[in-house]
Amino acid sequence: MDKKEKNVGVPDREKLMKKLTEEVKSDLKSYFQDRDYGVIAVTEEDALRAFVVKTTNLCDIARLRHKTSPIATAVLGRALTGALLLTSLLKHASDQRLLLRIEGDGPIGLVVAEANAKGNVRGFVKNPQVETFVKEVNGKKKFDIGRAVGSGFLTVVKDFGFGTPYESSVPLVSGEIAEDIAYYLLKSEQIPSAVSIGVLVGETGKVEAAGGFLVQPLPGASDKAIEKLEENVKKLPPVSALIKEGKRPEEIVELLFEGFTPHILALKELSFKCKCSKEVAKGGVIALPEKDLKELIEEGGVTIRCNFCNEEYFFSREELEEILKEKKSGDN
Ligand SMILES: [Zn+2]
Repeated sequence: MDKKEKNVGVPDREKLMKKLTEEVKSDLKSYFQDRDYGVIAVTEEDALRAFVVKTTNLCDIARLRHKTSPIATAVLGRALTGALLLTSLLKHASDQRLLLRIEGDGPIGLVVAEANAKGNVRGFVKNPQVETFVKEVNGKKKFDIGRAVGSGFLTVVKDFGFGTPYESSVPLVSGEIAEDIAYYLLKSEQIPSAVSIGVLVGETGKVEAAGGFLVQPLPGASDKAIEKLEENVKKLPPVSALIKEGKRPEEIVELLFEGFTPHILALKELSFKCKCSKEVAKGGVIALPEKDLKELIEEGGVTIRCNFCNEEYFFSREELEEILKEKKSGDN
């Protein structure tokens, strides 16, 4: 049987699967250039899956939006990257979304990131100006993320777009976020995975490199393949260091899948994007009691700030008067 015949009737998805050749890598490079994106890959030989993301730009946009201190930049960047990695639990490219909530007793307070399956993410930390704690690991100074976050719970809320969103919590194991996400996947989703997230913050406070990966054996993976995968993960340098030296997500896939033939399943452009608007903000204003609205009119206007992206929407006295009129006619 020749090759052509053999391929008759293979599912579309398999036809789309691309072997990660030099040509494909060069196409990816010229298409995405310096933008943030993720690569979902599997191995030809065994049932292994990887999702590798570069999130440098979106983490820096989050920093600029929320004016975060260096450690808050790292925490928020890790949460945003983590939420994007967790979209593996959603239907690819759909409108499904997921909220990652980290409630620790550390000084940074609540950390929230929301991502959808299309690759848009938004998020915030309660105290963006939190003091930066440093610890020494093997003679190197590192942010003490666990201390900023503290102990508490990690919650994931999956919204499939129908029915009640599915919510599940686990205790934080380290507050370093990647480990906590791996623990969540194991305990709540019964998916053993290796998760790594890194956000490198430079001297000026700018995000120099950020990204992460999630690798997991799929049902039917052989013990030998899992062992090899674990070995590859163990010897991999920190993901932010790889991105800093210019490694692209597909190249990190190659390192994770060393000894296997990687195939690309899907690609996803990633960005910091909020769905707020003046219209959404107006919904909040119109819900205020009439008495409060009248007070705001007397004060000459009000500014509504979006928690997720820090965007401000100003409503003038005239606009508030219109809203009050609308509210009164709506009540009747
Ligand atoms: Zn917003």
